[in-house]
Amino acid sequence: MTVAVVGGGISGLVVAWRLRSRGRAAVVLETSTRLGGAVGTRQHQGFLLETGPNSFLDREPATRELASALKLEDRIRAADPAAKRRYVYTRGRLRSVPASPPAFLGSDILPLGAKLRVMGELFSGRVAAGVDESLADFGRRHLGRTATRVLLDAVQTGIFAGDVERLSVGATFPQLVKLEREHRSLILGAIRAQRAQRKALPAGGTPAPKLSGALSTFEGGLGTLIDTLGTSLGDAVRVGATVEGLTRVDGGWRLAVSEQGRRAELDASEVVLAAPAYVTQGLLHPLDAELAARVGGIEYAPIAVVHLGFDAGTTPAPDGFGFLVPPTEGRRLLGSIHASTVFPFRVEAGRVLYTCMVGGAKRPDLVGLDEPALVALAREELKALAGVTATPSLTQVYRWPRGIPQYTVGHLERMAAVDQGLGRWPGLHLAGNAYKGVGLNDCIRNGLQLADALLAASPRG
Ligand SMILES: Cc1cc2nc3c(=O)[nH]c(=O)nc-3n(C[C@H](O)[C@H](O)[C@H](O)COP(=O)(O)OP(=O)(O)OC[C@H]3O[C@@H](n4cnc5c(N)ncnc54)[C@H](O)[C@@H]3O)c2cc1C
Repeated sequence: MTVAVVGGGISGLVVAWRLRSRGRAAVVLETSTRLGGAVGTRQHQGFLLETGPNSFLDREPATRELASALKLEDRIRAADPAAKRRYVYTRGRLRSVPASPPAFLGSDILPLGAKLRVMGELFSGRVAAGVDESLADFGRRHLGRTATRVLLDAVQTGIFAGDVERLSVGATFPQLVKLEREHRSLILGAIRAQRAQRKALPAGGTPAPKLSGALSTFEGGLGTLIDTLGTSLGDAVRVGATVEGLTRVDGGWRLAVSEQGRRAELDASEVVLAAPAYVTQGLLHPLDAELAARVGGIEYAPIAVVHLGFDAGTTPAPDGFGFLVPPTEGRRLLGSIHASTVFPFRVEAGRVLYTCMVGGAKRPDLVGLDEPALVALAREELKALAGVTATPSLTQVYRWPRGIPQYTVGHLERMAAVDQGLGRWPGLHLAGNAYKGVGLNDCIRNGLQLADALLAASPRG
Protein backbone atom coordinates (compact mmCIF):
# COMPACT_ATOMS: atom_id res chain seq x y z
CA MET A 1 0.00 0.00 0.00
CA THR A 2 0.92 3.61 -0.44
CA VAL A 3 3.03 5.82 1.77
CA ALA A 4 1.21 9.14 2.26
CA VAL A 5 3.49 12.16 2.59
CA VAL A 6 1.86 15.21 4.17
CA GLY A 7 3.51 18.40 2.90
CA GLY A 8 5.17 19.14 -0.43
CA GLY A 9 8.11 21.23 0.77
CA ILE A 10 11.62 20.04 -0.09
CA SER A 11 11.51 17.48 2.77
CA GLY A 12 8.27 15.77 1.72
CA LEU A 13 9.17 15.84 -1.98
CA VAL A 14 12.52 14.19 -1.37
CA VAL A 15 11.00 11.39 0.73
CA ALA A 16 8.35 10.65 -1.90
CA TRP A 17 10.83 10.91 -4.78
CA ARG A 18 13.20 8.38 -3.21
CA LEU A 19 10.40 5.95 -2.37
CA ARG A 20 8.99 6.08 -5.89
CA SER A 21 12.37 5.87 -7.56
CA ARG A 22 12.90 2.59 -5.64
CA GLY A 23 9.53 1.20 -6.71
CA ARG A 24 7.47 2.02 -3.62
CA ALA A 25 4.07 3.70 -4.05
CA ALA A 26 3.88 7.16 -2.47
CA VAL A 27 1.63 10.17 -2.73
CA VAL A 28 2.34 13.77 -1.66
CA LEU A 29 -0.52 15.86 -0.30
CA GLU A 30 0.24 19.59 -0.37
CA THR A 31 -2.20 22.17 0.92
CA SER A 32 -0.91 25.01 -1.25
CA THR A 33 -1.54 25.25 -4.99
CA ARG A 34 2.23 25.13 -5.54
CA LEU A 35 4.98 22.84 -4.35
CA GLY A 36 8.16 23.80 -2.50
CA GLY A 37 7.00 25.33 0.80
CA ALA A 38 9.64 27.92 1.72
CA VAL A 39 11.56 27.26 -1.52
CA GLY A 40 10.39 29.13 -4.60
CA THR A 41 11.77 31.22 -7.45
CA ARG A 42 9.84 34.05 -9.16
CA GLN A 43 10.65 36.10 -12.23
CA HIS A 44 9.80 39.81 -11.88
CA GLN A 45 10.79 42.66 -14.18
CA GLY A 46 14.10 41.06 -15.18
CA PHE A 47 15.02 39.90 -11.68
CA LEU A 48 15.04 36.28 -10.50
CA LEU A 49 13.76 36.38 -6.92
CA GLU A 50 13.90 33.67 -4.27
CA THR A 51 10.90 33.60 -1.93
CA GLY A 52 12.88 32.01 0.92
CA PRO A 53 16.28 30.28 0.76
CA ASN A 54 18.90 31.65 -1.62
CA SER A 55 21.54 28.98 -1.79
CA PHE A 56 23.07 25.82 -0.36
CA LEU A 57 26.64 24.79 0.32
CA ASP A 58 27.85 22.19 -2.15
CA ARG A 59 29.32 19.97 0.54
CA GLU A 60 26.49 17.51 1.16
CA PRO A 61 26.80 14.22 -0.73
CA ALA A 62 23.04 13.62 -0.47
CA THR A 63 22.26 16.88 -2.30
CA ARG A 64 24.76 16.01 -5.05
CA GLU A 65 23.28 12.53 -5.29
CA LEU A 66 19.79 13.98 -5.67
CA ALA A 67 20.94 16.53 -8.25
CA SER A 68 22.72 13.83 -10.19
CA ALA A 69 19.73 11.44 -10.15
CA LEU A 70 17.48 14.29 -11.35
CA LYS A 71 20.05 15.16 -14.08
CA LEU A 72 20.53 18.58 -12.53
CA GLU A 73 24.26 18.34 -11.82
CA ASP A 74 25.12 20.38 -14.91
CA ARG A 75 22.74 23.08 -13.76
CA ILE A 76 24.39 23.68 -10.38
CA ARG A 77 25.75 27.22 -10.35
CA ALA A 78 28.49 28.17 -7.88
CA ALA A 79 28.66 31.66 -6.41
CA ASP A 80 30.74 34.20 -8.31
CA PRO A 81 34.30 34.70 -6.94
CA ALA A 82 33.29 38.33 -6.29
CA ALA A 83 31.03 36.99 -3.52
CA LYS A 84 33.91 35.57 -1.47
CA ARG A 85 34.10 38.34 1.08
CA ARG A 86 31.50 38.58 3.84
CA TYR A 87 30.77 41.55 6.04
CA VAL A 88 29.48 42.12 9.55
CA TYR A 89 28.08 45.45 10.67
CA THR A 90 29.78 46.34 13.95
CA ARG A 91 31.04 49.45 15.73
CA GLY A 92 29.32 51.76 13.26
CA ARG A 93 30.31 50.25 9.91
CA LEU A 94 30.57 47.16 7.72
CA ARG A 95 33.77 45.24 8.39
CA SER A 96 35.16 42.37 6.35
CA VAL A 97 35.14 38.95 8.04
CA PRO A 98 38.72 37.56 7.95
CA ALA A 99 39.07 34.29 6.08
CA SER A 100 42.16 32.89 7.86
CA PRO A 101 43.82 33.06 11.31
CA PRO A 102 46.60 35.45 10.14
CA ALA A 103 43.96 37.67 8.50
CA PHE A 104 41.99 37.59 11.76
CA LEU A 105 44.96 38.88 13.74
CA GLY A 106 45.42 41.78 11.32
CA SER A 107 41.72 42.61 10.90
CA ASP A 108 39.55 45.22 12.61
CA ILE A 109 36.54 42.94 13.02
CA LEU A 110 37.07 42.90 16.82
CA PRO A 111 38.91 45.29 19.11
CA LEU A 112 42.43 44.16 20.15
CA GLY A 113 41.39 42.92 23.62
CA ALA A 114 38.64 40.77 22.11
CA LYS A 115 41.06 39.31 19.54
CA LEU A 116 43.49 38.37 22.32
CA ARG A 117 40.62 36.76 24.20
CA VAL A 118 39.82 34.65 21.12
CA MET A 119 43.45 33.44 21.11
CA GLY A 120 42.88 32.43 24.76
CA GLU A 121 40.49 29.84 23.33
CA LEU A 122 43.49 27.52 23.25
CA PHE A 123 43.14 27.24 27.04
CA SER A 124 39.38 26.52 27.07
CA GLY A 125 38.08 23.67 29.17
CA ARG A 126 35.34 21.12 28.61
CA VAL A 127 31.84 21.39 29.99
CA ALA A 128 30.46 18.35 31.88
CA ALA A 129 29.12 15.69 29.50
CA GLY A 130 25.40 15.87 28.77
CA VAL A 131 24.96 19.58 29.55
CA ASP A 132 22.81 21.30 26.90
CA GLU A 133 24.30 24.77 26.80
CA SER A 134 23.04 27.86 25.03
CA LEU A 135 25.05 28.99 22.03
CA ALA A 136 25.88 32.19 23.91
CA ASP A 137 27.21 30.36 27.00
CA PHE A 138 29.29 28.08 24.82
CA GLY A 139 30.62 31.06 22.84
CA ARG A 140 31.52 33.07 25.94
CA ARG A 141 33.45 30.11 27.41
CA HIS A 142 35.47 29.61 24.24
CA LEU A 143 35.69 32.97 22.50
CA GLY A 144 34.78 35.59 25.07
CA ARG A 145 31.90 38.04 25.27
CA THR A 146 32.71 40.33 22.37
CA ALA A 147 33.43 37.64 19.77
CA THR A 148 30.22 35.86 20.81
CA ARG A 149 28.19 39.06 20.50
CA VAL A 150 29.72 40.14 17.19
CA LEU A 151 30.69 36.98 15.32
CA LEU A 152 28.84 33.97 16.74
CA ASP A 153 25.57 35.86 17.01
CA ALA A 154 25.96 37.10 13.42
CA VAL A 155 26.59 33.55 12.18
CA GLN A 156 23.50 32.12 13.90
CA THR A 157 21.45 35.09 12.67
CA GLY A 158 22.37 34.12 9.10
CA ILE A 159 21.00 30.60 9.62
CA PHE A 160 18.40 30.69 12.40
CA ALA A 161 17.50 34.38 12.80
CA GLY A 162 17.36 33.32 16.42
CA ASP A 163 18.22 34.38 19.95
CA VAL A 164 21.80 33.34 20.76
CA GLU A 165 20.93 33.15 24.47
CA ARG A 166 18.16 30.60 23.82
CA LEU A 167 19.45 28.42 20.98
CA SER A 168 21.07 25.11 21.98
CA VAL A 169 24.66 24.76 20.80
CA GLY A 170 24.28 20.98 20.65
CA ALA A 171 21.24 21.17 18.38
CA THR A 172 22.36 24.07 16.17
CA PHE A 173 26.12 23.51 15.83
CA PRO A 174 26.78 19.90 16.92
CA GLN A 175 30.19 20.02 15.20
CA LEU A 176 31.37 22.61 17.77
CA VAL A 177 30.33 20.39 20.68
CA LYS A 178 32.13 17.46 19.04
CA LEU A 179 35.32 19.52 18.65
CA GLU A 180 35.19 20.48 22.32
CA ARG A 181 34.54 16.92 23.45
CA GLU A 182 37.40 15.50 21.36
CA HIS A 183 39.99 18.27 21.57
CA ARG A 184 38.92 20.61 24.42
CA SER A 185 39.89 23.67 22.35
CA LEU A 186 38.10 24.47 19.07
CA ILE A 187 41.26 26.00 17.60
CA LEU A 188 43.35 22.93 18.48
CA GLY A 189 40.64 20.67 17.11
CA ALA A 190 40.48 22.58 13.83
CA ILE A 191 44.29 22.46 13.43
CA ARG A 192 44.40 18.71 14.15
CA ALA A 193 41.52 18.03 11.75
CA GLN A 194 43.37 19.91 8.99
CA ARG A 195 46.58 17.95 9.68
CA ALA A 196 44.70 14.65 9.65
CA GLN A 197 43.13 15.58 6.33
CA ARG A 198 46.57 16.32 4.82
CA LYS A 199 47.98 13.04 6.18
CA ALA A 200 45.10 11.09 4.69
CA LEU A 201 46.29 12.09 1.19
CA PRO A 202 48.64 9.69 -0.52
CA ALA A 203 52.16 11.20 -0.72
CA GLY A 204 52.21 13.68 -3.57
CA GLY A 205 48.66 12.68 -4.36
CA THR A 206 45.69 14.83 -5.13
CA PRO A 207 42.49 14.60 -3.14
CA ALA A 208 39.75 12.36 -4.50
CA PRO A 209 37.17 14.23 -6.59
CA LYS A 210 35.09 16.05 -4.05
CA LEU A 211 32.24 18.44 -3.57
CA SER A 212 33.22 22.00 -4.41
CA GLY A 213 32.17 23.31 -1.00
CA ALA A 214 30.96 26.42 -2.83
CA LEU A 215 27.83 28.31 -2.10
CA SER A 216 25.52 27.21 -4.90
CA THR A 217 22.12 27.31 -6.52
CA PHE A 218 20.65 25.95 -9.75
CA GLU A 219 20.35 27.64 -13.10
CA GLY A 220 16.90 29.21 -12.89
CA GLY A 221 17.13 29.42 -9.09
CA LEU A 222 16.28 26.95 -6.35
CA GLY A 223 12.80 26.57 -7.84
CA THR A 224 14.46 24.44 -10.55
CA LEU A 225 14.99 21.68 -7.97
CA ILE A 226 11.36 21.83 -6.85
CA ASP A 227 10.00 21.89 -10.42
CA THR A 228 12.16 18.91 -11.39
CA LEU A 229 11.08 16.92 -8.34
CA GLY A 230 7.45 17.82 -9.07
CA THR A 231 7.74 16.72 -12.70
CA SER A 232 9.45 13.51 -11.70
CA LEU A 233 6.71 12.72 -9.18
CA GLY A 234 3.96 13.45 -11.75
CA ASP A 235 0.48 12.51 -10.62
CA ALA A 236 1.84 11.22 -7.29
CA VAL A 237 1.57 14.84 -6.16
CA ARG A 238 -1.76 16.36 -5.20
CA VAL A 239 -1.69 20.13 -4.68
CA GLY A 240 -4.57 21.97 -3.05
CA ALA A 241 -4.97 18.90 -0.80
CA THR A 242 -5.07 19.72 2.91
CA VAL A 243 -4.70 16.88 5.38
CA GLU A 244 -7.10 17.59 8.22
CA GLY A 245 -7.14 14.38 10.22
CA LEU A 246 -5.29 11.17 10.88
CA THR A 247 -6.66 7.95 12.37
CA ARG A 248 -5.25 4.50 12.94
CA VAL A 249 -7.06 1.77 11.01
CA ASP A 250 -6.41 -1.93 10.60
CA GLY A 251 -3.07 -2.34 8.90
CA GLY A 252 -2.31 1.32 8.52
CA TRP A 253 -3.66 4.85 8.55
CA ARG A 254 -6.61 6.83 7.25
CA LEU A 255 -6.16 10.48 6.32
CA ALA A 256 -8.99 12.98 6.07
CA VAL A 257 -8.19 15.19 3.09
CA SER A 258 -9.93 18.35 1.96
CA GLU A 259 -9.41 18.84 -1.76
CA GLN A 260 -11.06 21.49 -3.92
CA GLY A 261 -13.90 21.93 -1.44
CA ARG A 262 -14.53 18.18 -1.18
CA ARG A 263 -13.63 15.94 1.73
CA ALA A 264 -12.22 12.52 1.04
CA GLU A 265 -10.38 9.75 2.80
CA LEU A 266 -7.08 8.20 1.83
CA ASP A 267 -5.76 4.95 3.26
CA ALA A 268 -2.03 4.43 3.54
CA SER A 269 0.23 1.80 5.04
CA GLU A 270 2.60 4.49 6.36
CA VAL A 271 2.41 8.22 6.85
CA VAL A 272 5.24 10.75 6.72
CA LEU A 273 4.26 14.03 8.35
CA ALA A 274 6.44 16.60 6.54
CA ALA A 275 4.35 19.68 7.29
CA PRO A 276 5.56 22.34 9.77
CA ALA A 277 5.61 21.22 13.42
CA TYR A 278 2.61 23.36 14.39
CA VAL A 279 0.48 21.60 11.70
CA THR A 280 1.82 18.19 12.70
CA GLN A 281 0.92 18.96 16.32
CA GLY A 282 -2.74 19.44 15.31
CA LEU A 283 -2.79 16.14 13.41
CA LEU A 284 -1.16 14.24 16.27
CA HIS A 285 -3.23 15.71 19.09
CA PRO A 286 -6.30 13.43 18.84
CA LEU A 287 -3.97 10.40 18.73
CA ASP A 288 -1.38 11.24 21.33
CA ALA A 289 -1.61 14.49 23.26
CA GLU A 290 1.81 14.04 24.86
CA LEU A 291 3.62 13.53 21.55
CA ALA A 292 1.65 16.41 20.01
CA ALA A 293 2.67 18.74 22.85
CA ARG A 294 6.35 17.87 22.38
CA VAL A 295 6.18 18.57 18.65
CA GLY A 296 4.06 21.69 19.14
CA GLY A 297 6.58 23.07 21.62
CA ILE A 298 9.05 23.76 18.79
CA GLU A 299 9.07 27.51 18.29
CA TYR A 300 9.47 29.37 15.00
CA ALA A 301 11.01 32.75 14.27
CA PRO A 302 9.17 34.93 11.77
CA ILE A 303 11.10 36.43 8.90
CA ALA A 304 10.39 38.75 5.99
CA VAL A 305 12.39 38.71 2.76
CA VAL A 306 12.51 42.16 1.14
CA HIS A 307 13.97 42.30 -2.37
CA LEU A 308 15.17 45.68 -3.60
CA GLY A 309 16.14 45.72 -7.29
CA PHE A 310 17.98 48.60 -8.96
CA ASP A 311 18.28 49.48 -12.64
CA ALA A 312 21.68 49.41 -14.30
CA GLY A 313 23.78 52.46 -13.50
CA THR A 314 21.71 53.63 -10.54
CA THR A 315 23.80 52.09 -7.76
CA PRO A 316 27.23 50.39 -7.76
CA ALA A 317 27.42 46.58 -7.63
CA PRO A 318 28.22 45.72 -3.99
CA ASP A 319 31.29 43.64 -3.15
CA GLY A 320 30.98 40.27 -1.46
CA PHE A 321 28.22 37.87 -0.45
CA GLY A 322 26.47 40.39 1.77
CA PHE A 323 26.43 41.43 5.38
CA LEU A 324 25.00 40.34 8.71
CA VAL A 325 24.01 42.56 11.59
CA PRO A 326 24.47 41.19 15.13
CA PRO A 327 21.21 41.79 17.05
CA THR A 328 23.07 43.78 19.74
CA GLU A 329 23.72 46.52 17.15
CA GLY A 330 20.05 47.44 17.62
CA ARG A 331 19.38 47.80 13.87
CA ARG A 332 16.22 46.68 12.08
CA LEU A 333 17.88 44.47 9.44
CA LEU A 334 19.14 40.96 10.14
CA GLY A 335 21.32 41.29 7.10
CA SER A 336 21.31 41.53 3.34
CA ILE A 337 22.45 39.24 0.56
CA HIS A 338 24.10 40.87 -2.46
CA ALA A 339 22.10 38.52 -4.68
CA SER A 340 23.28 39.98 -8.01
CA THR A 341 26.94 39.74 -6.94
CA VAL A 342 26.56 36.16 -5.67
CA PHE A 343 24.67 34.89 -8.71
CA PRO A 344 25.00 37.45 -11.53
CA PHE A 345 22.69 35.41 -13.78
CA ARG A 346 19.79 36.33 -11.48
CA VAL A 347 19.60 39.86 -12.93
CA GLU A 348 19.78 41.39 -16.38
CA ALA A 349 23.13 43.01 -17.13
CA GLY A 350 24.18 45.82 -14.82
CA ARG A 351 21.23 45.52 -12.45
CA VAL A 352 21.71 45.18 -8.72
CA LEU A 353 19.62 43.07 -6.35
CA TYR A 354 19.73 43.26 -2.56
CA THR A 355 17.79 40.61 -0.62
CA CYS A 356 17.17 41.98 2.86
CA MET A 357 16.07 39.88 5.84
CA VAL A 358 13.91 41.43 8.54
CA GLY A 359 12.48 40.13 11.84
CA GLY A 360 13.76 36.97 13.47
CA ALA A 361 13.37 35.91 17.10
CA LYS A 362 14.59 39.29 18.39
CA ARG A 363 12.31 41.54 16.28
CA PRO A 364 9.22 39.43 15.43
CA ASP A 365 7.08 42.57 15.48
CA LEU A 366 8.70 43.89 12.28
CA VAL A 367 7.38 41.00 10.19
CA GLY A 368 3.85 42.24 10.95
CA LEU A 369 4.47 45.57 9.18
CA ASP A 370 2.65 46.10 5.89
CA GLU A 371 4.60 45.80 2.65
CA PRO A 372 5.22 49.52 2.03
CA ALA A 373 6.51 49.84 5.61
CA LEU A 374 8.83 46.83 5.18
CA VAL A 375 10.19 48.27 1.94
CA ALA A 376 10.72 51.69 3.57
CA LEU A 377 12.46 50.03 6.52
CA ALA A 378 14.77 48.00 4.26
CA ARG A 379 15.64 51.13 2.22
CA GLU A 380 16.38 53.21 5.32
CA GLU A 381 18.57 50.49 6.79
CA LEU A 382 20.43 49.85 3.53
CA LYS A 383 21.14 53.56 3.32
CA ALA A 384 22.38 53.76 6.91
CA LEU A 385 24.41 50.54 6.89
CA ALA A 386 25.67 50.27 3.31
CA GLY A 387 25.19 53.78 1.87
CA VAL A 388 22.64 52.72 -0.77
CA THR A 389 20.68 55.87 -1.65
CA ALA A 390 19.23 55.03 -5.10
CA THR A 391 15.53 54.37 -5.60
CA PRO A 392 14.78 50.72 -6.41
CA SER A 393 12.85 49.97 -9.59
CA LEU A 394 11.61 46.70 -8.09
CA THR A 395 10.41 45.94 -4.59
CA GLN A 396 9.01 42.58 -3.58
CA VAL A 397 8.23 41.20 -0.13
CA TYR A 398 7.76 37.59 0.96
CA ARG A 399 6.65 37.10 4.51
CA TRP A 400 7.10 33.95 6.61
CA PRO A 401 5.18 34.41 9.90
CA ARG A 402 6.57 31.11 11.14
CA GLY A 403 9.73 30.99 9.08
CA ILE A 404 12.58 29.21 10.80
CA PRO A 405 12.30 26.58 13.56
CA GLN A 406 14.24 27.45 16.67
CA TYR A 407 16.28 24.66 18.25
CA THR A 408 16.28 26.11 21.75
CA VAL A 409 18.02 24.63 24.80
CA GLY A 410 16.28 21.30 25.46
CA HIS A 411 15.72 20.57 21.75
CA LEU A 412 17.83 17.40 21.76
CA GLU A 413 15.97 16.06 24.79
CA ARG A 414 12.70 16.99 23.12
CA MET A 415 13.73 15.08 19.99
CA ALA A 416 14.66 12.00 22.02
CA ALA A 417 11.19 12.09 23.60
CA VAL A 418 9.56 12.59 20.19
CA ASP A 419 11.44 9.60 18.75
CA GLN A 420 10.35 7.54 21.75
CA GLY A 421 6.74 8.74 21.37
CA LEU A 422 6.70 7.77 17.69
CA GLY A 423 7.61 4.26 18.77
CA ARG A 424 4.01 4.00 20.05
CA TRP A 425 2.70 4.54 16.50
CA PRO A 426 4.07 2.07 13.96
CA GLY A 427 4.00 3.43 10.43
CA LEU A 428 4.03 7.07 11.52
CA HIS A 429 7.10 9.19 10.73
CA LEU A 430 8.17 12.82 10.93
CA ALA A 431 10.20 14.74 8.36
CA GLY A 432 10.98 18.41 7.88
CA ASN A 433 13.13 21.23 9.09
CA ALA A 434 11.66 21.39 12.61
CA TYR A 435 13.59 18.43 13.96
CA LYS A 436 17.11 17.58 12.86
CA GLY A 437 18.47 20.41 10.72
CA VAL A 438 17.01 23.53 9.09
CA GLY A 439 19.20 23.86 5.99
CA LEU A 440 18.25 22.54 2.57
CA ASN A 441 21.13 20.07 2.78
CA ASP A 442 19.77 18.78 6.11
CA CYS A 443 16.23 18.44 4.71
CA ILE A 444 17.51 16.51 1.68
CA ARG A 445 19.86 14.23 3.66
CA ASN A 446 17.24 13.49 6.32
CA GLY A 447 14.51 12.95 3.71
CA LEU A 448 16.61 10.42 1.79
CA GLN A 449 17.61 8.66 5.01
CA LEU A 450 14.00 8.36 6.15
CA ALA A 451 12.89 6.96 2.78
CA ASP A 452 15.77 4.47 2.84
CA ALA A 453 14.79 3.35 6.34
CA LEU A 454 11.19 2.78 5.17
CA LEU A 455 12.43 0.83 2.17
CA ALA A 456 14.73 -1.28 4.32
CA ALA A 457 11.95 -2.06 6.81
CA SER A 458 9.52 -3.13 4.11
CA PRO A 459 11.42 -3.69 0.87
CA ARG A 460 8.53 -4.77 -1.30
CA GLY A 461 6.00 -2.29 0.12
C1 LIG B 1 13.44 33.23 4.55
C2 LIG B 1 14.16 31.92 4.60
C3 LIG B 1 15.46 31.85 4.13
C4 LIG B 1 16.16 30.63 4.17
N1 LIG B 1 17.41 30.56 3.63
C5 LIG B 1 18.03 29.37 3.52
C6 LIG B 1 19.22 29.25 2.75
O1 LIG B 1 19.71 30.22 2.14
N2 LIG B 1 19.80 28.02 2.68
C7 LIG B 1 19.27 26.92 3.29
O2 LIG B 1 19.85 25.83 3.19
N3 LIG B 1 18.10 27.00 3.97
C8 LIG B 1 17.47 28.20 4.09
N4 LIG B 1 16.26 28.28 4.73
C9 LIG B 1 15.70 27.06 5.34
C10 LIG B 1 15.01 26.12 4.33
O3 LIG B 1 14.49 26.85 3.26
C11 LIG B 1 13.87 25.37 4.99
O4 LIG B 1 14.29 24.80 6.20
C12 LIG B 1 13.31 24.25 4.09
O5 LIG B 1 12.96 24.78 2.84
C13 LIG B 1 12.12 23.61 4.80
O6 LIG B 1 11.56 22.63 4.01
P1 LIG B 1 10.45 21.64 4.60
O7 LIG B 1 9.94 20.82 3.48
O8 LIG B 1 11.00 20.93 5.78
O9 LIG B 1 9.30 22.60 5.16
P2 LIG B 1 8.34 23.60 4.39
O10 LIG B 1 9.05 24.27 3.27
O11 LIG B 1 7.73 24.44 5.44
O12 LIG B 1 7.23 22.65 3.75
C14 LIG B 1 6.11 22.18 4.47
C15 LIG B 1 4.95 22.03 3.49
O13 LIG B 1 3.83 21.49 4.18
C16 LIG B 1 2.66 22.06 3.63
N5 LIG B 1 1.52 21.88 4.55
C17 LIG B 1 1.25 22.55 5.69
N6 LIG B 1 0.12 22.09 6.24
C18 LIG B 1 -0.34 21.09 5.46
C19 LIG B 1 -1.48 20.21 5.53
N7 LIG B 1 -2.36 20.24 6.55
N8 LIG B 1 -1.66 19.31 4.52
C20 LIG B 1 -0.78 19.24 3.47
N9 LIG B 1 0.31 20.06 3.37
C21 LIG B 1 0.53 20.95 4.37
C22 LIG B 1 3.09 23.52 3.44
O14 LIG B 1 2.22 24.21 2.55
C23 LIG B 1 4.50 23.36 2.91
O15 LIG B 1 4.54 23.31 1.50
C24 LIG B 1 15.54 29.48 4.72
C25 LIG B 1 14.22 29.56 5.19
C26 LIG B 1 13.53 30.76 5.13
C27 LIG B 1 12.09 30.81 5.60
